[in-house]
Amino acid sequence: MSTSVRVRFAPSPTGPLHIGGLRTALYNYLFAKKHQGTFVLRIEDTDQNRFVEGAEDYIVESLNWSGIPYDEGPGKEGEFGPYKQSLRKDIYKNYVDELINNGRAYYAFDTTESLQKLREEAEANGEKFAYGPQNRLSLDNSLKLSSEDLQKRLDANEAYVIRFKTSPAQKLFLKDEIRGHIEVDTSVLDDKILFKADGLPTYHMANIVDDHLMEITHVIRGEEWLPSLPLHVALYEAFGWEPPKFAHLPLILKPNGKGKLSKRDGDKLGIPVFPLEWKDPKTGSEAAGYREGGYLPETLINTLALLGWNDATEKEFYKIEEL
Ligand code: GLU
Repeated sequence: MSTSVRVRFAPSPTGPLHIGGLRTALYNYLFAKKHQGTFVLRIEDTDQNRFVEGAEDYIVESLNWSGIPYDEGPGKEGEFGPYKQSLRKDIYKNYVDELINNGRAYYAFDTTESLQKLREEAEANGEKFAYGPQNRLSLDNSLKLSSEDLQKRLDANEAYVIRFKTSPAQKLFLKDEIRGHIEVDTSVLDDKILFKADGLPTYHMANIVDDHLMEITHVIRGEEWLPSLPLHVALYEAFGWEPPKFAHLPLILKPNGKGKLSKRDGDKLGIPVFPLEWKDPKTGSEAAGYREGGYLPETLINTLALLGWNDATEKEFYKIEEL
């Protein structure tokens, strides 16, 4: 295992890159440069329903225009590629099978209707539905499923998902480089889906397998992923892997501080929220970009870097090399 710094920007191609995403990419890039490390671009495209045509090219073009090039990624294959998750399906399948064989994951055959019923029952009791030991139809659980029954259901091609078996009431000690120590009781976590009925991994599964295989040392990403940290650390533990360091960055918010800055907020403020112009391939609607607005990439990068950071001087403009 290499000891040099390896970071990644891992966008899902579900639309144009938002300036919040660009800021995350910038922090990863700067951290890599500071430590003579490697900056990886990984395209997380396992959610076929949310895939948007052209979004991947848009991401690559935005990074290039902004002056934050990646060292490894699509078109720049390195030793840990391919860097596009849809090309790595078999890898994830092998790892989820390992979890099944170790008794850390299991097949779940629930239908949409049966899940809906469970949800309604929980609501009627004033509870929030969480999928856990009480629902596990697995070989070693009280709701017994014999290995013959299991084999029969698999042979009959019954639809299933694969869920992670969250350990009962265990304390997880997490550390975020920005937030500090966080303690989580695993009994509040539910059995998250690792593999979907379409045979593709969920974000959680593919993301942690790739961070491990690509030898990522620091995961620097938006704060919206902080709630996923307990599951990610539990997954590292289940595999017996050393987790990377995590830093969750605050988001770029709406002027009233409630929620992420949206395209609509940008329109109201007269500023774009995308680096480049974007035309939605489905609706045809267009959104302004900094490039076409005549802004210099250096100005955008400086603004993004100074949002939430200052070196205690009056200096207002930094070149990327200085940053
Ligand atoms: N694919 C996730 C996203 O679009 C990546 C989150 C992460 O960096 O772990 O934001």
